[in-house]
Amino acid sequence: MSLTTAGAPTIARYDYAAQWRAMGPDVRDDLLDVLRYGPHVLGRRLAAFEESFAAYQETGFCVGLNSGTDALVMALRILGIGPGDEVVTQANTFHATVSAIVAVGARPVLVDATADTWSLDIGQLRDALTPATKAILPVHMYGYPAPMSEIMGLARDHGLLVVEDCAQAHGATVGGRKVGTFGDVGCFSFHPSKNLAAAGDGGALVTPHVTLADKARRLRNLGQTQQNHHVENGWNTRLDEVQAVLLRAKLQHLDAWNGARARVVDAYRAGTADCAVRLQPSPPHGIAVHHLVQVMTANRDEFVEHLRARGIDAVVRYPVPVHRQPAFTDVFDADADFPVASRIAQDCCCLPVYPSMAPADVERVVEAVRSFYASDESS
Ligand SMILES: *Cc1c(COP(=O)(O)O)cnc(C)c1O
Repeated sequence: MSLTTAGAPTIARYDYAAQWRAMGPDVRDDLLDVLRYGPHVLGRRLAAFEESFAAYQETGFCVGLNSGTDALVMALRILGIGPGDEVVTQANTFHATVSAIVAVGARPVLVDATADTWSLDIGQLRDALTPATKAILPVHMYGYPAPMSEIMGLARDHGLLVVEDCAQAHGATVGGRKVGTFGDVGCFSFHPSKNLAAAGDGGALVTPHVTLADKARRLRNLGQTQQNHHVENGWNTRLDEVQAVLLRAKLQHLDAWNGARARVVDAYRAGTADCAVRLQPSPPHGIAVHHLVQVMTANRDEFVEHLRARGIDAVVRYPVPVHRQPAFTDVFDADADFPVASRIAQDCCCLPVYPSMAPADVERVVEAVRSFYASDESS
């Protein structure tokens, strides 16, 4: 544990130790069994996790993969999306969303978020559809559900496929239904930073369609239907047994952990209501799971400095929006402009949020935010 100059411990952005403490001795035994006896991949623990996650999502099938990025690539592959197709997604997303579209040879088309919700703008989405549009790829960014009823309505009207990027939104709902189950395929990441976290990389897709699930199971295992019989050209992207044990155990805590995150955010909202800092508003159509607490403020960089000087691990996520990344200079027009996404990149930073965060630490963050606006640094 590191200490601030004032001697108070740093308020970090994650608490891995607390997650491990929540695991019972059965988990430890099961992990040791995997290490001692195997199998290490494609065994019964993966099948058990996939069954549990599909049940949690209240959908037909889950297929475990080795990352959220690969879940997106896999979703696009099993839906037959490739060269000549356009996939519409949002400008305020993480690199991997766009990277997956480019990886299958399709063309990513960006639309901006709305200025009030920071979620995908339906009007702009409608305007972005062309005869080449094959799919919509909404992102439940920061853990806040996208407006899925409107998106599914547009998809139905135009005969489009829908892939949901749920990498930040395990457990978020729209009208009581889990995100990831509205579209044809929902994609999840279990990166250690996510709400449901592996001890390394991991990912999965969920789908109600058995044919899509079967295809994904084949493709993740080099296209094999049986050993040494490769019926199509897949690749290697399997969730391993160690991660499956951990994820199945942690899944039992997910709703409680998401509830704890929500209490932290409620305290931030209440404690900073009279400060010139803006939190993302609660979505009117669903329930968020607060993967990130993005806050928007003038003088963002000074704000971050102020918090860090007080031992608070505030951080700027995605300071360069996807359409400005050097990797995509050939993909997006140089003069493309997404003002809301750019503003989020320029004026937002993240306050710490994790389920085990102590009320006293939440209070310290609130006090640090308040002291920024009480001082001269804010102007
Ligand atoms: C984390 C993330 C991904 C990629 O997941 P990995 O497991 O890191 O490959 C994709 N989309 C979004 C929005 C993410 O936050």
